[in-house]
Amino acid sequence: MASGVLTYDDFRCSLCGTCCRKQKVVLLTLYDIFRISERLGMRPGEFFKKYCTISAKFNSDGLKRFYLKADGGCPFLKDNMCSIQDVKPVVCARNPFYYMEASLAACKVFGIIEDECRINEYPYDTMVKGDNESLIDMDILVMATDEYIAKYGRFDEKTARPYYEKALEDLKDTGLRALTYTALVGQSVRREEQCRTDPYYKGATNMYIGGFYNDFKKAVKISNGTYAFEPSALGMIDSVMALVLFEKDYREIKKALGQQSGATIHARGSVFEGREYVIVSVEPANGKKVIFYYHIEPDEKASLRHEPGEILIDFKSEKGGSFFFKGKDADQWLSQATK
Ligand code: SF4
Ligand code: SF4
Repeated sequence: MASGVLTYDDFRCSLCGTCCRKQKVVLLTLYDIFRISERLGMRPGEFFKKYCTISAKFNSDGLKRFYLKADGGCPFLKDNMCSIQDVKPVVCARNPFYYMEASLAACKVFGIIEDECRINEYPYDTMVKGDNESLIDMDILVMATDEYIAKYGRFDEKTARPYYEKALEDLKDTGLRALTYTALVGQSVRREEQCRTDPYYKGATNMYIGGFYNDFKKAVKISNGTYAFEPSALGMIDSVMALVLFEKDYREIKKALGQQSGATIHARGSVFEGREYVIVSVEPANGKKVIFYYHIEPDEKASLRHEPGEILIDFKSEKGGSFFFKGKDADQWLSQATK
């Protein structure tokens, strides 16, 4: 498909159901809790107890929020369709267009696009535009819910109802809508800037936009004995290459590699559309083979000063964990990578 602008209205979801199956939790606002419970003929408190949870661990700001428990697949996914389509949570209704305006590459870097989603058929430099009014609605509803949680710290129908009713009024407040619009546009601009200039995010963004990511996926066959991934971000810490991984990848890699140093490592350099990449495969003595790739910025290349025959990679989890890997069997990996 040609690049350009893709709007929420133009996107034709393939109804593959992947996003509903792969989510572990789905963010809920008070608006969702009241509407879905009514649709199911349940009291909001009863619905909350059966289907929801409150946690601070699923959002990057560490805020406690309400979530639909969806581990192992959303309970409302039936025959690959949403069984509460008319009242589905506001975040689901906007999926995968959560930003007012962003490149598809930025959406990938920030982890909001599933690999299986049809949207990946568009070039990653496509500008993806969410529906402004519904994103403003979502933000206002999330803010109202945050305010409630900050005060009460749990869900209770009696105390929540006034906040729900106020949220419905807030949705009609044109002044608040204008302010929310400005804030969301600012967020979009900052996010895109981060992807273009921040050393961590730039590498991953370039991998998508340069087309290398698709090439990599085609070249690597993922099977039982292999685990392949791309970093969500890439950067240098002193002379150590740091790959920032999505949390699920981080856990998998850590499990696959353990703390061993006797793994076999192969690194292969590649130039794709004028950019340099390295594909690394790490094969632990007892464990799954791991294949990953990263992108070398010219200024990073100059600062790569590993000892010959050694590779040092610091895997960072998105949540701040770190796993240092040192292998001894990567002869000439750097010279191969930078030829
Ligand atoms: S509520 Fe519906 S749209 Fe949302 S994750 Fe569940 S099945 Fe999918
Ligand atoms: S992953 Fe994408 S294509 Fe599949 S159901 Fe979700 S939005 Fe639609």
